[in-house]
Amino acid sequence: MYEGTGKPVFAGVAIGPVQLYRPAQRQLPASSGDPAAEQALFDAARETARTQLSELYEKTLQEIGEEQAMILDVQIMMLDDEDFLTGVRERIAAGDSAARAARDAGEEFSAAFAALDDPYMQARAVDIRDMAERVVTILCGGDGGIRITRPCILVAEDLTPSETVQLPREKILAFVTRQGSANSHIAVLARILNIPSLVQASLELDGALDGKTMIVDGFTGRYYIDPDEATLAAMTGKRDEAAQARQQLEAYRGVPTVSRSGRRIQLLANIGSPEDVPAVLEGDAEGVGLLRSEFMYLGRDALPTEEELFEGYRRVVEQLGGRPLVIRTLDIGADKQADYLGLDKEENPALGYRGIRICLTREDIFRPQMRAIYRASAFGPVSVMFPMIISVQEVRRIKAFCARIREELAAEGVPVGQVELGIMIETPAAAVISADLAKEVQFFSVGTNDLTQYTLAIDRQNARLDEFYDPHHPAVLALLRTIVENAHAAGIWAGICGELGADPTLTETFLQMGYDELSVSPGRVLELRKIICESEV
Ligand code: PEP
Ligand code: MG
Repeated sequence: MYEGTGKPVFAGVAIGPVQLYRPAQRQLPASSGDPAAEQALFDAARETARTQLSELYEKTLQEIGEEQAMILDVQIMMLDDEDFLTGVRERIAAGDSAARAARDAGEEFSAAFAALDDPYMQARAVDIRDMAERVVTILCGGDGGIRITRPCILVAEDLTPSETVQLPREKILAFVTRQGSANSHIAVLARILNIPSLVQASLELDGALDGKTMIVDGFTGRYYIDPDEATLAAMTGKRDEAAQARQQLEAYRGVPTVSRSGRRIQLLANIGSPEDVPAVLEGDAEGVGLLRSEFMYLGRDALPTEEELFEGYRRVVEQLGGRPLVIRTLDIGADKQADYLGLDKEENPALGYRGIRICLTREDIFRPQMRAIYRASAFGPVSVMFPMIISVQEVRRIKAFCARIREELAAEGVPVGQVELGIMIETPAAAVISADLAKEVQFFSVGTNDLTQYTLAIDRQNARLDEFYDPHHPAVLALLRTIVENAHAAGIWAGICGELGADPTLTETFLQMGYDELSVSPGRVLELRKIICESEV
């Protein structure tokens, strides 16, 4: 037996054969010596690639969403790029095989993009390589896809977007990748599919792994290859228990979240992008209590436009079909960086220029986002909340800004809905003055991740401090109580959207404190609903 660890991105246990995915190391076919025949082969392969990509585009659009589908659309357009086609033609005329010409022209074309100054164009180099690789694979007799014929645990270095979207989802028991992060394509897909998965796994991608039995424990982040009998028995038990527990939770689907004594609490979901909405519905959340909007600003090379933001928010609102949506405005800085913003490197980024501090000083960022949020509110119930608040003055500045945006849109004849304004309570300052803040806004949502970090003076990102980072610390719990009491005294509602909101050992405590809402990962909703429905509080 061999065991190791990775970063779990979704809990659960999977057991099955490894399917190792390594992009093929191919033998390129030699030229037939007839350039016209080679050119015809290339033209045919290009058409096959176009058909494959168009099918993938449709599948992605339906199953994942427009943002991911657009990547494939770009690749379809690149199949017709004149520079690429000329590069191939010239190489074939000089005696190269169709496959070699496609590979070399693709590499040259991709390198040219990588060398451009514009970071957006640089990033397209990956798409060009992906597109050219597909044509080469077809010319080598492959079908350009990942062939998976039986349920398996897919082990890979990483997966490109176009590889991710063509996977036969029903056959994947778990993903294990050596690279990737909590927000990589593969992690997003794992959460949508509710399958246990590990990224940044410590393992060698050795061909001998293929077909071996593997166990992935998404609860602990451990994996086992060729497990011994005792481990296999224990983990099979753990998997079956988890499945049974999951099955029992189905009784709570569609049921109102009300305790035995009649206390009603809203159970909403935290999401990071429009692509996560299907998981919200699948998890039976009552809406979205935290859309971490910064993810629409990350992994790209320029600020999203008002139109892009509006389209993204409108898609979420429409898919939620009348369920409430709380959008948190941009909380960039600290752990979430976007190079194109040109922010200085800071000594103490968690205490630095981040969140609302950026929005209040960069109207070029704040204005398009607020306009997009107001415009989306015409399509369904939308609320907005602001991160990292520390003072009443900040809140008043925000309210004045929002009032101006509303007036501006009204003058333009653009319809907007009722938008509740709320704030995140995630600094000790905001918790301490929550009685004053409550008079200014319509709701509070407590960000316990940051509230714990700032109350205990412990960097939430530093794994060495894990043993000291205690969100159950009496100081944090005392602040949580103060916050909800002050909210209710002013007649507004209060929720929790940090990780602590999903801690089942505290659910009854939150009920007792009087919290009105918990916003958690979509996959946790049914479990918490059960606890609340069975509670006497
Ligand atoms: C929090 O701080 O608890 C929170 C919900 O926000 P984030 O984790 O995005 O900082
Ligand atoms: Mg926070």
